[in-house]
Amino acid sequence: MENYLYDAHCHIFTLRYAIKEVKGMLHDILNGTYPWHDPSSKSLFAVRGSWSDLKLLLRQLYELIHAAGGSEEENLNFLQQEAKKAFPEDHLRIIPLMMDIFFMLAYPLNKDQEFKHVDELRTPQIDLDDYQKCWNEILDDLTVYIQSNKAALIANGINDVNKNIESALQIIGEERSVEETLKLRCGESMLTGMDGFFRTEGYCNHLNNLMDLVKTRKGELFPFIAIDPRREGIVDTLLSGSFIKGDARFYGVKLYPRMGFHPLSKPMDSVYQFCSDNNLPVITHCGKGGFPPSTTWKYADFGNPLHFEPVIKKYPDLKINFAHFGSSDPTFQWAKTVARLVEENENVYSDLSCYTNVRDLINKKQLCDIRPKLKTRLMFGTDFDVMYFTDNVSLKNYYNNFKTVFYDELEVLMKRNSESFMGL
Ligand SMILES: [Zn+2]
Repeated sequence: MENYLYDAHCHIFTLRYAIKEVKGMLHDILNGTYPWHDPSSKSLFAVRGSWSDLKLLLRQLYELIHAAGGSEEENLNFLQQEAKKAFPEDHLRIIPLMMDIFFMLAYPLNKDQEFKHVDELRTPQIDLDDYQKCWNEILDDLTVYIQSNKAALIANGINDVNKNIESALQIIGEERSVEETLKLRCGESMLTGMDGFFRTEGYCNHLNNLMDLVKTRKGELFPFIAIDPRREGIVDTLLSGSFIKGDARFYGVKLYPRMGFHPLSKPMDSVYQFCSDNNLPVITHCGKGGFPPSTTWKYADFGNPLHFEPVIKKYPDLKINFAHFGSSDPTFQWAKTVARLVEENENVYSDLSCYTNVRDLINKKQLCDIRPKLKTRLMFGTDFDVMYFTDNVSLKNYYNNFKTVFYDELEVLMKRNSESFMGL
């Protein structure tokens, strides 16, 4: 019989996704329609930040996914190949998580705050040449950055650095023109029709590529859709059930509150209810670090597991994974909260994704030894390819570290706990 192991937390998004998404953000900033609302005023449009902020953002995104110059499929192949080396007898199933970065520079959605819907809005039209000129400046900045960072890539142990840089530059070349984006945004209302949500190129490109892989690589991947309630229509589309129907479907919801939405903002309640009713597991980023790379990022505390306690009480059947077990916190406050929530509730999980440091791993193993229930709720994840960003660790070493620290208990993390979380 086939034995399946799970990478319960990874990402296979690509540089192309990031570049396309930032291109769309630039459009809306220049257009004066990013992020549409200033919640404190009645004005419909409010521009926040300046377009040149996108230079830094794109550099940071490149840092985050610099091993992913290829396609989603290449990333999947790489994960499979490395897992095969580590576990030759077993098959790997991966849980790739989407990310929605589009609103990270927008106004936050705070606790108890309602999201204001915008109906049938037509965008003003920006000048093609202005748009292209700004975009060129951003891409030129990224190009210089990539070329000057070759040494860092080599130090990080990235395979075939020249090829990696070449493919990144090729993607930049292919994403140079803004014409397509402008056409897409002007051709129709900003919002799509009935069963629609605000579509941006990067988000949709990655979503479609994931769905194609679910179809062509049956049984290998179980993706989670990123929900940011500020993306017009995305919550309603989730509630319509269309993301979890058919052959090409999602298997859970990924939340990244540190992008700027509070877990207890108004629209989120219907998300939890829907997930609870439909046995759809939720993964929420639960580390003080993350993206953007700073533990003092202004919305970092939105990811505090304490904010989810009322949700867990209201929806006790909801399966929720506090990803990263409250990492990047020397006081262990978040980790202690997660451990307590696991202890007190039946459907709370956590994962050890992005645990590139052996000491942290040993620390969590010791915690498991004194809290046996934790051992039944903790999952393995690589956090590929964000993991490359944190330490100089290859996937091979990452697997080896887990094997060394957990020995034969690794199977529980990589199999039984993930199956129970996913309901598989
Ligand atoms: Zn992650």
